[in-house]
Amino acid sequence: MKKHKLIIIGSGPAAYTAAIYAARAGLFPLVYEGFYSGPAGGQLMTTTDVENYPGFPDGINGPELMDLFRRQAERFGTSLLTEDVTHVDLQTHPFKVTAASGAVETEALIIATGATARRLPVPGTRDGEFWQKGVTACAVCDGAMPIFRDKPLYVVGGGDTAVEEAIFLTRFGSKVFIVHRRDELRASKIMAERALSHPKIQVLWNHVLVKVEGDSVVRSVTLQNVLTNQETSHEAAGLFFAIGHEPNTGFLKGQLPTETNGYLKVIKGTSRTSIEGVFAAGDVQDHVYRQAVTAAGSGCMAALDAERWLAAREHVHA
Ligand SMILES: Cc1cc2nc3c(=O)[nH]c(=O)nc-3n(C[C@H](O)[C@H](O)[C@H](O)COP(=O)(O)OP(=O)(O)OC[C@H]3O[C@@H](n4cnc5c(N)ncnc54)[C@H](O)[C@@H]3O)c2cc1C
Repeated sequence: MKKHKLIIIGSGPAAYTAAIYAARAGLFPLVYEGFYSGPAGGQLMTTTDVENYPGFPDGINGPELMDLFRRQAERFGTSLLTEDVTHVDLQTHPFKVTAASGAVETEALIIATGATARRLPVPGTRDGEFWQKGVTACAVCDGAMPIFRDKPLYVVGGGDTAVEEAIFLTRFGSKVFIVHRRDELRASKIMAERALSHPKIQVLWNHVLVKVEGDSVVRSVTLQNVLTNQETSHEAAGLFFAIGHEPNTGFLKGQLPTETNGYLKVIKGTSRTSIEGVFAAGDVQDHVYRQAVTAAGSGCMAALDAERWLAAREHVHA
């Protein structure tokens, strides 16, 4: 079975940054970019303007940015396979990594498979409909876009994330509505109070989203009152899903410890997991910041941690 020094699983800013550093350190990393698990290039492949990634004062298109990451990784000798890792065996060393093209071994492994924003299957919100034309799942990323300025915005959810996103959006929208299917927020007391007392936020209790409509961008949302079944249409420029993210860890089949919310656990301030030689980077281990620049930063950390771990091991076994 072919043996590698370092395999990286994933293809967002974290994986490609790890690959750039590892390739420049002469580790000849092999990257499994994913295929069915999500577009190679990660979450930014589904967005248009990225305005907060440093180095691009005029902003840059998401897929264009990821193509630059990818090319930079390739330039220094990274090998890329556009397929999903279906299984890993972390119980023996070298670790075994299995994908459609077969199984290979690796001394060190970086997991950078990201997370997927949860969305509801509501008409008008899907890819090819109004997704990224007013429907999004990231207020910090998209809230400042001109289409949302001084317009009514809707946030779906009822936890801390929904409240945080709504408060953030008050800087841009004329009014922010939180659509919540229950009669009480799940958010912490302090966050709930902040939302309820905010002059620009109104919670629409016992309501669910039924559909989103528009022309080239979102123009309205239809909501249903779950107590009366009555449907009402409201003018809207933005619909923000804030119902959590799902870290992409299914292929690990529980071989690494996770936080209670499913994100991979790393030793604080490092990318090290509880298994020696296995590192994690990007959104798969970060439920707090979830930004391209933080993912890239942690990809750099993972490559440096892996390189040092491999060097120390070689020294011992020399
Ligand atoms: C619509 C949208 C807009 C955003 N806009 C911004 C923005 O403007 N600025 C910003 O900083 N952040 C933005 N973000 C957040 C940013 O995209 C993420 O924080 C960042 O992409 C996380 O990077 P990552 O490297 O952890 O992985 P991801 O980008 O999540 O990519 C991981 C990739 O790994 C691959 N993968 C998954 N499982 C497997 C497997 N089993 N085998 C092989 N490969 C696998 C898939 O291709 C997956 O897409 C946005 C997110 C979204 C959804």
